[in-house]
Amino acid sequence: MWSFCLHSLVREYGWQFFRRVVLPHPVKTVQAVWASGALDFSGEMTALGAEGTPQSFGGARSLVGVGFCLKPLDPPCPSGRFNHDCRFLESLPHSETTDVPAACRQCAIREIGTLALRAGAAVYVMTSAKDILLDVFAPALDEGRFTAGLFALCRYSLRPFAVGLLAGGVRGWMFPFEQGDCRDYKTWLKADRGTKEERTEINPPNRSAIREFLRAAAQEPPPAVGFEKRGNVLFPLAAAESALR
Ligand code: SF4
Repeated sequence: MWSFCLHSLVREYGWQFFRRVVLPHPVKTVQAVWASGALDFSGEMTALGAEGTPQSFGGARSLVGVGFCLKPLDPPCPSGRFNHDCRFLESLPHSETTDVPAACRQCAIREIGTLALRAGAAVYVMTSAKDILLDVFAPALDEGRFTAGLFALCRYSLRPFAVGLLAGGVRGWMFPFEQGDCRDYKTWLKADRGTKEERTEINPPNRSAIREFLRAAAQEPPPAVGFEKRGNVLFPLAAAESALR
């Protein structure tokens, strides 16, 4: 954690974090660092202030974040790799005759994003630390845009990521990747700049846990039929709004 912080101080993410989070909210930041330091990140899932049940997840202020590195390589994601795009989710709802690309059929982002939609949660394909700061942590802190989040990311990032969530007051469920993930600062920095040659994977028990969590959070009737991209985040779009597009 401290190695990550020291390295980050000389990078844009570090000073942006300092300017957007630490300076305006020093007490919350210290509390978040302290609380994060007490957490055990060695297990399959880490919960942050997340005593609530899946039924309390979902709706406008909930977010599901998935790393871009989950996108398939062979065949490749039709949306490209190092970006916040997901052509499959952005074009929902699909007709029954829509031909789902082979890449999407095997993609965890498709499954997780579709389930998130049924829970009325926003979806965010996570790329760089700076974008996560500007798209998630800062809006959560400044305006309470997100209050709950489920995330799939590399284990190496869990603790610093938890600091951002805790400072922003976001209850969180964090699932680490099992394979292909960054395990040191050097590989993490390359991925943060878009160079990531491996495809990450969520292990079957965690994939199943995410599936069950989001199914339990699903709302009836479904609150949304598709997504609308605002900035870098996909927000649920109700049927009436979707028809007007
Ligand atoms: S479902 Fe996966 S492969 Fe398909 S567009 Fe979205 S991110 Fe790419």
